[in-house]
Amino acid sequence: MMPPARAAIFVDKDGTLVDDVPYNADPALLRFKPGALAALSALAARGFVLLVASNQSGLARGFFTRVQFTLLQAVLERRLLEEAGVALLDVMICPHAPAADGTPQCPCRKPAPGLLLRAARRHRLDLGRSWMVGDTLDDVEAGHRAGCRSILFDSGGETLWRHTPLRRPEVCLGEWDEVVHHILAADAAPARTAAVQP
Ligand SMILES: [Mg+2]
Ligand SMILES: [Zn+2]
Repeated sequence: MMPPARAAIFVDKDGTLVDDVPYNADPALLRFKPGALAALSALAARGFVLLVASNQSGLARGFFTRVQFTLLQAVLERRLLEEAGVALLDVMICPHAPAADGTPQCPCRKPAPGLLLRAARRHRLDLGRSWMVGDTLDDVEAGHRAGCRSILFDSGGETLWRHTPLRRPEVCLGEWDEVVHHILAADAAPARTAAVQP
């Protein structure tokens, strides 16, 4: 018998998991957001699998190479393991650049849901029980388009605040311990309102 599909936490990287250093590929500049390590550890202990879902248009723009990003990712994953005992199930990256007006030209650049949908197929994830956590409304929309619930981690990354129903987060929080509290409380609740469907 197949094991049941797993609930996931999709975490945006820049501005959510680590400080947003634009187009950074230098492992020395990785700084975890306060509380992020303890939060991921707590969510993993509750049975969620953890994935990073990140737009990295610096690849398409030629600001850094695949090899450089692979090294950065390896350091990120090693530090999560060493400093928090947290193993990421996967790191989902969109390497493409958007159109001049910011619209994705691929199915994977957030706010498109491609990274999450690909991860769900690859790892048998239950998207309806999963969450997207990110610092922009593009993260929120990507989560909703994939059928997840979305938390806006408000660390100052969103500047445009273009609102549509899909871009309305379940909740907007500024601290990682609040994110954990919200997810664990919602996960424990017997009845749950469904995520906004596209
Ligand atoms: Mg971000
Ligand atoms: Zn893409």
